[in-house]
Amino acid sequence: MLSVHLNALRHLVGDQSIRSGEALTSLDSGFDQDNLTAGFAILPRTVDDIVKTVRYCGEHGLALVPQGGRTGLSGAARSSDGQVILMMHRMTKIIAIDTLSQTAIVEAGCTLQTLEDAVRLHGLTCGIDLGARGTATIGGMIATNAGGQEAFRFGPMRQRVLGLEVVLPDSRILDDLTQVIKANGGYDVKQLFIGAEGTLGIVTRVCLRLAPLPPDGITALVSLSNCNGGIRFFRRLESLTQGRLLRAELMSANHVTVSADDHGNPALAAFGKQGDCVLFEYTDQSALEAELEVSLDVGDITDALICKNESERASVWKIREDWAVDRAFPDGLWFDVSVPLAQLNSYLEALRQRLQCHDADLKLFYVGHMGDGNLHITVNAASPITSRYKEISALVYQDLKAMGGFFSAEHGIGLEKREALAEHSDPVKYDLLNQIKKMIDPSGIMNPGKVLPSEDLK
Ligand SMILES: Cc1cc2nc3c(=O)[nH]c(=O)nc-3n(C[C@H](O)[C@H](O)[C@H](O)COP(=O)(O)OP(=O)(O)OC[C@H]3O[C@@H](n4cnc5c(N)ncnc54)[C@H](O)[C@@H]3O)c2cc1C
Repeated sequence: MLSVHLNALRHLVGDQSIRSGEALTSLDSGFDQDNLTAGFAILPRTVDDIVKTVRYCGEHGLALVPQGGRTGLSGAARSSDGQVILMMHRMTKIIAIDTLSQTAIVEAGCTLQTLEDAVRLHGLTCGIDLGARGTATIGGMIATNAGGQEAFRFGPMRQRVLGLEVVLPDSRILDDLTQVIKANGGYDVKQLFIGAEGTLGIVTRVCLRLAPLPPDGITALVSLSNCNGGIRFFRRLESLTQGRLLRAELMSANHVTVSADDHGNPALAAFGKQGDCVLFEYTDQSALEAELEVSLDVGDITDALICKNESERASVWKIREDWAVDRAFPDGLWFDVSVPLAQLNSYLEALRQRLQCHDADLKLFYVGHMGDGNLHITVNAASPITSRYKEISALVYQDLKAMGGFFSAEHGIGLEKREALAEHSDPVKYDLLNQIKKMIDPSGIMNPGKVLPSEDLK
């Protein structure tokens, strides 16, 4: 970054809102080591700070990289030398919680956990949850259209957002901060910014829908005869009483055993040996127990363990949320795919076979949000396989489109899936994506190279 730009930006937003050198590198780079590579960040306190920064960057052809909690998993917050990072973590205000309308208006840098804690005091919930809840920001979750554990009930972030305020690449403010479900006004422009991964503008304020807070759930770990049995059990639980099934997280048998071994939990390791498992949360223990019996009798499930206390519950959730598999087999490859539920079992069986035929040393692990068919797949082996992305991704993505699924589910495209997006998108849709980017950000300053290839800045 040229010192002339450093000084000009310092002058515009004030010394307190700038980080560079050690003051920047001492911050947590987050999930991706290259997030802070730009070496220069602006930490706005107000929308006006953002407007001034965007205007300056536009006038001087400087690229901007918005960052929230830096928990993104697809390289969308990576920065490089000469770019300006825009860190949103000082814009965290909860502006309003409206208990009658069941909405919240927040600044984009507020973390999910902070907002959830605040709305819970009013008997409400955000209706969206993910493992990175303590660090991921509402703005980052909008930019990636995050999904998580409750998407089968409430949809991904796209369905939680009622209104948005966005600073556009030309520094104008788009004020679409409506607080109502129905607001037809031609094309729903705000939806373009949801899932755009910071490539079309900077989300500054948001109005989110909330939902009534359900009672605490009972946690049960269930082993499956196969995925179809698990889905039938899931559907029966879901239809018993609306809203009582809170979560349903799928884990491959080997994910459970490797994680349980890593956590020194032989009982769970033994449980995992029986087959793939699903972690269910349900709010009515007697109804859950009755349904477990029926499903054991018909053979949809093979065993069940109901957590008796918080410590058992925490141990089971740790198996789901911890990254033990990646520690045990580093340098594997990750995928985040969506599969229609009716095809989940056959997709996994076919994938297992394809991988085995291709190379018998490859191991297949998966966890997933069962209710919406989102699988997080890890393929690894005893030695690193990161250089084999092309051949292995072809095996993972095979048949997905034909069965109505998609190669990318909830983690976004970022840098890592950019080529795959070009390859797997409908060409007309891909062309429209490029045209939209050019129309809203003609000079290409907004998070260039993420999602779509960038043209060089002037
Ligand atoms: C342990 C763990 C569990 C996870 N579980 C899930 C899960 O279940 N479901 C799921 O969907 N994801 C999950 N994720 C991924 C991640 O948490 C989400 O992608 C999250 O939405 C990223 O939010 P963030 O604030 O960290 O954004 P960042 O990582 O900082 O940024 C992500 C993208 O958003 C852009 N961005 C950030 N803030 C703004 C803004 N204000 N305006 C415009 N663009 C912005 C960035 O430029 C970048 O493109 C998980 C991650 C981890 C580490």
